[in-house]
Amino acid sequence: MLRPVAFCLLCLLVSSPASALETMRIAMSEAGGEVQVSGPGLSSGADTEEATFQPLGTRQAIVRRRGKKLEVNGVLVAGSSVRFRSGEAAPGADASREKPLRAGGMEVRGDVVVRVYREGLQLINVIPLEEYLAAVLGSEMPVSFPPEALKAQAVAARTYALQKKLEAYGSSFYLGSSVLHQVYGGVNREDPRTLAAVEATRGEVLTYELAPIEAYFHASCGGRTESGLAALQRDLPYLQPAECPCGRLPASRWTATVSRAELQTALGGSPSGFRISGRTGTRRASRVSTSEGLSMDGPRFRQRLGYTKLKSLDFEVEETPHGYHFTGRGYGHGAGLCQWGAKALADGGWNYRDILSHYYPGTELQQLY
Ligand SMILES: [Zn+2]
Repeated sequence: MLRPVAFCLLCLLVSSPASALETMRIAMSEAGGEVQVSGPGLSSGADTEEATFQPLGTRQAIVRRRGKKLEVNGVLVAGSSVRFRSGEAAPGADASREKPLRAGGMEVRGDVVVRVYREGLQLINVIPLEEYLAAVLGSEMPVSFPPEALKAQAVAARTYALQKKLEAYGSSFYLGSSVLHQVYGGVNREDPRTLAAVEATRGEVLTYELAPIEAYFHASCGGRTESGLAALQRDLPYLQPAECPCGRLPASRWTATVSRAELQTALGGSPSGFRISGRTGTRRASRVSTSEGLSMDGPRFRQRLGYTKLKSLDFEVEETPHGYHFTGRGYGHGAGLCQWGAKALADGGWNYRDILSHYYPGTELQQLY
């Protein structure tokens, strides 16, 4: 049964009009009862691809919630959402690149939708996929990385976004803008190097059995990537442990000191005698326990202690007079593409296609548009 379903997912993408295919809807932020949207030549319309946009005659719109409806600059609008668009190109710029809109503390390309959401308002950025990727790339990977590493990341981010779009098909938005999905910082994170990597791989998507893959990625695996099952409970044939050159980089080593109080907050109770009670096939901590019998799985423990404190689950731990000293390798969940590994491979002369095949074995690169 899996094959026909996967095939139809791809049919859905390929048979969609280009505009629908290439458009992403990203949840930017939530607000209380009022939000401001600004930009040159501001116009507004209904939240559809076919809507007609009416100039507002001002570069600023104050949107207020009135019950289940919305008011724009004091005028009630039909429906429970409104979409804004900037109307002027930047002076001297490519006319197709409209000036960005500012809303919710971000500057973004494309349109901004304000909609009634829960008790307040929600802002959604409706943006062409390729422009979204140019911004994501600058937030997710250092722009100084070699071009082949940036291209590999561009394909992974495009694939990840399309897969999430398929999963959320018909919803108001497909992705958030935080580290929980892909970090998206709007136009501030664009750079000529990210634009070039996105343009060079335009429309290229990684597929497995004709469907876009779940293209997870992380900063650094520490020497060997983790299986999708162990890292994210995603048992997928293309997310299997792979050897990685990032383990040789001093930057992939880390240490952390955790006090008894922090451990208590993370594990609950009053833990003592903390130890690693289970390890995955790549020797990452799959379970931690205390001598009182408290126990927790590795990913949850990392979440409770904080992703920046416990950079990975590939660690050793020692008891000290004040708490515990962790020594580890890598940064992130470890599944899929390793960014520092991609950099090392690109520095060694690998191209982005080989880098992608290394971290997502058995997948195929397809030109979707
Ligand atoms: Zn690595």
